[in-house]
Amino acid sequence: MTISDRKISPEKHRKNFADIKPALSESAAIVEAGRCLFCYDAPCTDICPTHIDVPGFIKKIMTGNYLGSAKTILTENILGESCGRACPVEVLCEGACVMNDKDEMPIKIGQLQRFSTEWRRNNNKNVFDVPQSNGKSVGLIGAGPASLSCAAYLKLNGYDTMIYEAEKLPGGLDAFGVADYKLTLQSVLDEIEMIKDIGVEIQTETKVGEDISFDELLKKHDALFIGIGLGRTRSLEIPGSRLNRVRDTIDFIKEYKMNPAGETAIGKHIAVIGGGNTSVDAATAAVRLGAETVTILYRRSESEMPAFTHEYEHAKADGVIYKWLANPVEFLGDTDVEAVKCVRMELGEPDESGRRQPIEVPGSEFTIPADMVFLALGQVADEAFINSIPGVGISHGRIIADPKNGKTSNPRIFAGGDVVHGAMEVVNAVQAGKLAAVEIADFLSNGEN
Ligand code: SF4
Repeated sequence: MTISDRKISPEKHRKNFADIKPALSESAAIVEAGRCLFCYDAPCTDICPTHIDVPGFIKKIMTGNYLGSAKTILTENILGESCGRACPVEVLCEGACVMNDKDEMPIKIGQLQRFSTEWRRNNNKNVFDVPQSNGKSVGLIGAGPASLSCAAYLKLNGYDTMIYEAEKLPGGLDAFGVADYKLTLQSVLDEIEMIKDIGVEIQTETKVGEDISFDELLKKHDALFIGIGLGRTRSLEIPGSRLNRVRDTIDFIKEYKMNPAGETAIGKHIAVIGGGNTSVDAATAAVRLGAETVTILYRRSESEMPAFTHEYEHAKADGVIYKWLANPVEFLGDTDVEAVKCVRMELGEPDESGRRQPIEVPGSEFTIPADMVFLALGQVADEAFINSIPGVGISHGRIIADPKNGKTSNPRIFAGGDVVHGAMEVVNAVQAGKLAAVEIADFLSNGEN
């Protein structure tokens, strides 16, 4: 902590990180459900990566069958509660809602999903009957959304499941990669309790390759699923990148989510490097924690920015400053970072991907003050770990697996989620885990892959 660091009071923290979309009351949920047209071939269901029967669960809210509504959601998306809060509904179900074509507000599908799933939890109701064990066992590596989903659906089909997680707490990016005002750590842990109640076992603080080997796992289990996500933020090798307070964005988000309210110190001037959704989550959190200025530096222009438009608008509304076509070339400071030296860019010709490539403008260097820097340059997988998985192919640092079913080149090992398809949403990882569960069950009953 340096002299310029500040902390806000626990009360202010709670206020600043209050739900961005507050929970609907029962009467508000019924009124909102009543607006739905219950479309045939509903586009909201079609666009949802897990294909939740949206009109089906909304109709059950209308008739007061809240448990049935939760069951409809959880049958397709076991993490339906966190997805109801953290999914980018603006570009998924709500973006596809036919109400948009009528110039009316789309149905609040995410908040209705949250209503039903929270009702189930608050009323301590089970929605699933768990069958007896069929004696076959699956080990899952990593306790993020893909493994949680795969394990839950396998368990609901009679398979014993054990998840191995290196961290102290399960949840992966669902727990630690999403801003607190969208999804709290506690609500993710509560949702995982439901999965544990089904009978999924989770062994935390267990590193595969150190605490248990792949050989042991393959002896202990009939099949394995790898759902380790992407391990770390891409580094930026420029002078000064080893200075204190140049930080990995995910580590920062994880730290403030785990700390009690009012316990996270933040610098005065923050620079966030990168233009994606994670940079927005870090920048808005820094503002809410009390930073004086927060600047996102992106080396391309506004039209190439990877963040969703609604996230960008949210960051601007929070007072985050954007500097487009700004490429960091050096972090300045003695031991702690004090400033970021950037060079202006201009956009050249498109490359083979069709994106216009940024080119440095000679002599255009400028400096912005920054006593804390967050790197949000996308995440990369742990290549050394992937290389240690027996008989599994690797490409561009990720596991080669069939996205339709998680099959890898090792017939007993399956994989899904970000470690296969790269960084996507929690809901995509849930679907990948669900599809792999179907394939693993098929393999274990028919003995073929
Ligand atoms: Fe209801 Fe909109 Fe889905 Fe139609 S598209 S079923 S109106 S939520």
